[in-house]
Amino acid sequence: MPADSEPLLDVRDLTVAYESERGMVTAVDRVSFTLRPGEILGLAGESGCGKSTIALALPRLLRSPAVITGGQVLFDGKDVLDLDDRAIRSVRWRDISLVFQNAMNALNPVLRLSSQITDVIRTHDKVSAGEARARAGELLDMVGIGRDRLSSYPHQLSGGMRQRAAIAIALALRPRLVVLDEPTTALDVVVQREILDELRLLQGRLGFAVLFVSHDLELLAEFTDRIAIMYAGRIVEWAPSLPLLDRAAHPYTRGLLAASPDLRGTRAATRQGLPGTPPDLADPPPGCRFAQRCEHATEVCRGTEPVLLPLPDAAPSHVAACHLYPQEVGAR
Ligand code: ADP
Ligand code: MG
Repeated sequence: MPADSEPLLDVRDLTVAYESERGMVTAVDRVSFTLRPGEILGLAGESGCGKSTIALALPRLLRSPAVITGGQVLFDGKDVLDLDDRAIRSVRWRDISLVFQNAMNALNPVLRLSSQITDVIRTHDKVSAGEARARAGELLDMVGIGRDRLSSYPHQLSGGMRQRAAIAIALALRPRLVVLDEPTTALDVVVQREILDELRLLQGRLGFAVLFVSHDLELLAEFTDRIAIMYAGRIVEWAPSLPLLDRAAHPYTRGLLAASPDLRGTRAATRQGLPGTPPDLADPPPGCRFAQRCEHATEVCRGTEPVLLPLPDAAPSHVAACHLYPQEVGAR
């Protein structure tokens, strides 16, 4: 994958709010990132920081009370947010597909797997019933369920199998971007590992780009090329995956790492929780949103919002928004 290829996805200043009795809660605030064809980007952060809101915004699957209040989602140069309903339906599943944590529960309980998969294929592609069924069989083989399960109903399958079926549906139209939102969190670790290994093989074979959302940083680092860290609706750091683990710069990222088990055994950290709670997104504090939980916070942190900038002594692609590192006046 050439590093300088045009981005497949270019998200610019995406802002999403939820309308609530307490006013607008801005869950995603001016978030920007790009994804190149075939690249795997991880998105991490504590629960409630806005990961799923981004995942749902990309194929425009957000429902009320969510409102996209700003920004652009350029897919192949076209803004997904500008498309009318008909156009967005052809983008969904064909260009951008989504697998979420409880996708297995979203399968229709009264339809056999074959119908659920062929329905997706035939609403987008003009193919015969026989051809669609053959493709459904191939998909079930591909995700490790096996075509002999085509006639099964969801309740006849284990949770892991149902999640694999949801992945098969997401891959049915050979999308160029697959958004995985905690795709295996509901499963036990062995099944989780099997499914992720298989997803990686499929990604290598089919070449789709992936936005992989997880709260598990160690897991993400294994499966992704780069990782973006979110805190309270903002991206606060991002870097190639291994440097991010080894040389995390933002105190929030370091706190997340200290709070996660060290699977590789390379960090001396003892497992400890991250103290405190994120700020109220209906009324976020001025300055750095992490300041109230940060042991390094100064007056500057509480007054001025830091911007994402390259770090001294790091790869240029490693950026963090933190006043501990030089912040140029007027930089963006
Ligand atoms: P994550 O996936 O990182 O756990 P979400 O994107 O689900 O986070 O949620 C981000 C924030 O958006 C939450 O902290 C909450 O304040 C708000 N939010 C999410 N869903 C709703 C909803 N249906 N109504 C109101 N607010 C919501
Ligand atoms: Mg979520």
